[in-house]
Amino acid sequence: MSRDDVNVVWLGSPTFPKAAHDALQDTQLRRNLKHATTTIRDKRLKAVAELDDWETLREAGSQIKDRVMRHLDEYLLQLEASVTAAGGVVHWAQDAREANAIVSKLVRAKGATEVVKIKSMATQEIGLNEALEDDGIEATETDLAELIVQLNDDRPSHILVPAIHRNRTEIRDIFKREMGKHGIAAPEDLTDEPRALAEAARVHLREKFLRAKVAISGANFACADTGTVGVVESEGNGRMCLTLPETLITVMGLEKVLPSFSDLEVFLQLLPRSSTAERMNPYTSLWTGVTPGDGPQEFHLILLDNGRTKTLADVEGRSALHCIRCSACLNVCPVYERTGGRSYGSVYPGPIGAVLTPQLVGVGTSEHADSLPFASTLCGACYDACPVRIDIPEMLVHLRAKVVDSHRGGVPKPEALAMKGAQVVFGSPRRLAMAERLGAMAGRFVGIRGGRWLPGPARKWTGARDVPVPARESFRTWWRKAGRR
Ligand code: SF4
Repeated sequence: MSRDDVNVVWLGSPTFPKAAHDALQDTQLRRNLKHATTTIRDKRLKAVAELDDWETLREAGSQIKDRVMRHLDEYLLQLEASVTAAGGVVHWAQDAREANAIVSKLVRAKGATEVVKIKSMATQEIGLNEALEDDGIEATETDLAELIVQLNDDRPSHILVPAIHRNRTEIRDIFKREMGKHGIAAPEDLTDEPRALAEAARVHLREKFLRAKVAISGANFACADTGTVGVVESEGNGRMCLTLPETLITVMGLEKVLPSFSDLEVFLQLLPRSSTAERMNPYTSLWTGVTPGDGPQEFHLILLDNGRTKTLADVEGRSALHCIRCSACLNVCPVYERTGGRSYGSVYPGPIGAVLTPQLVGVGTSEHADSLPFASTLCGACYDACPVRIDIPEMLVHLRAKVVDSHRGGVPKPEALAMKGAQVVFGSPRRLAMAERLGAMAGRFVGIRGGRWLPGPARKWTGARDVPVPARESFRTWWRKAGRR
């Protein structure tokens, strides 16, 4: 496989149960995650409680996204016309390979060998940094957490806080060890104080901002009626990328289009409160094409499909495309909190990753992606937290069914055999009565033996839980004995 094939999922990732099992052994990771998710979760609840019309906003966000999905083709063509009229150039990319080739060609056309980047899930999804590296172009991530991940040759573990699995001391060590290899080194006496770490990153990045001719960004939104593209961020690194270089290339998933500029009112309230628990993002950058003498003089917008139109075709699964990448569902998920993002083996971790990843890569095409819809307790916390009301639990159940359907035929798995057996038993009152009698006998046996495990292959199931002890007497028997038939 070439690097162009490394998209959405990280090749070679184990299935979720295997990766989660390994991650659970890492006590430091669990401690870091618990601290971070609890803090963000509490802050989000306070920020959301400030708005009386929060539920109305959620409903509005959901309906706008729903409308976008129903008329995606029209809004995308309108967006293309608006961006072109404002002096930008629109490119269409069917998959990661096409998108990477377009970006690489544009960068080389400017004679550049380095680019600065704003944190972007879309460019991670297509493996852009690796593809550019193959073409001799160095891409520098300028978001602080992305920089930490990149310097350590690591993988992100959270949509919004990619280095959530690292604590301050680990970050100081990464800076001291790696920064000098890629530019201005971190000071010898660097401490793990947040201010000192931020200053080291600022000095390291500043010279890159001033030198770069080309910047690459993702997009949070793009308005079809005006052609305005928007990026929200907290550090100001995005603003530097969007204003200093001569050329700006934006890679945007098709689903990020909004019908109208006025729709931003809804999303610019929903997103910051749900993601960083802020009333508004510290930096909201909106630009429309090219303005002579102000900012980049060349603007390219790459509209990326990469599995999105296939996802759109599934009416029950398509609402995964409503996601505004706030990460609120990750922070409330009991599974994510314990296993961390890297266990999902995808650029999209947590509950949204469990429904988006298998759809983007195709259900039934990868054992790893097929394991993701099962990475949930279906507790529903993600649905309650989602600012655009994506019903993730319902979609998980839908995708579980699709995964099972895609594997029909061949040697049946133990679960399939168990379900078949249940179907036979529940299909006849006589068989059910017999099973109840057997169950009552088993209950007496378990009671005598005192163990709560099953023998043979079923032992795997009881290795992590006690087997429920069947009642010594079935309801029917009790009813009969009580003379009530
Ligand atoms: S699914 Fe909802 S809560 Fe999760 S990241 Fe997307 S918008 Fe946020």
